[in-house]
Amino acid sequence: MKTLLLPTIKDLISYQKTLNQNSYIGLVPTMGALHEGHLSLIKASKQKDTHTIVSIFVNPTQFGPNEDFSKYPRDMQKDLRLCEENGVDAVFAPQVSDMYPNHDEISLNPPKNMGYVYEGFIREGHFNGVLAIVLKLFHLIKPHHAYFGQKDAQQLLIIKRMVQDLFLPIQIIACPTQRDADGLAMSSRNIYLSQEDRKNALKIPNALKIISQAIERGETKCASLIEAGKKVLENIELDYLAICDYNLAPLEEIRKNASIVLLAAKVGKTRLLDNLWI
Ligand code: AMP
Repeated sequence: MKTLLLPTIKDLISYQKTLNQNSYIGLVPTMGALHEGHLSLIKASKQKDTHTIVSIFVNPTQFGPNEDFSKYPRDMQKDLRLCEENGVDAVFAPQVSDMYPNHDEISLNPPKNMGYVYEGFIREGHFNGVLAIVLKLFHLIKPHHAYFGQKDAQQLLIIKRMVQDLFLPIQIIACPTQRDADGLAMSSRNIYLSQEDRKNALKIPNALKIISQAIERGETKCASLIEAGKKVLENIELDYLAICDYNLAPLEEIRKNASIVLLAAKVGKTRLLDNLWI
């Protein structure tokens, strides 16, 4: 099956006119440089929806001034081939000027307790940018289901909250983190890692594994779990290792099915995120 490339909003609207009332639309929002993590979201949508739309858009408003917006990996040819191989119906890949027609536009703020901690603390304005683009994509594409990776845990939780707070008629589907054989969570940014960085980066999933094993042995105290994890992360530039609930509030004791371990660290020049849903 051919994947339709929709480079403009006008093309998207024309495509939507070809869909009938009984269509179920699944949206997989991405910034491209697709890997198996993205493909797992696509596969989940293919199982549930009649039509799967992937958006590919490197969203400038979620990057800080000293971040890698201009250097972010882009490979549209390869992405289109992967979408085609995985049965994607359409790829929406607009220009920045299409998605942000005005300079001083209406803005959306995440909840204070969720949006300005962890990633939101380190990357100022990051979640304002994420919410802006995701809401625009939701309005334009009107999906029934939208698929997000658990890999970006804070993003997933904040988007779920936006759907609740704004009564959006969309179901958010959370998909598990896909990892390479060595345990490193897949990420478009992994290509920045040198061989040595990559070896160091493995301390991240290893720390989470130590924490998970300690929980299985019955440890419930978050302070002890964090201490055990930090031992594995020696010599790594740790931004945070924290355990919190689904509203991002820190916890003293683990709560099953209601806690998450968040980890962010810089390896070489690359910031990596990983987490553990408990
Ligand atoms: P990105 O292109 O990095 O913005 O990611 C697009 C979507 O893919 C987001 O919902 C991510 O959480 C998800 N994603 C990225 N990496 C992975 C992974 N390793 N496993 C599962 N989902 C992922």
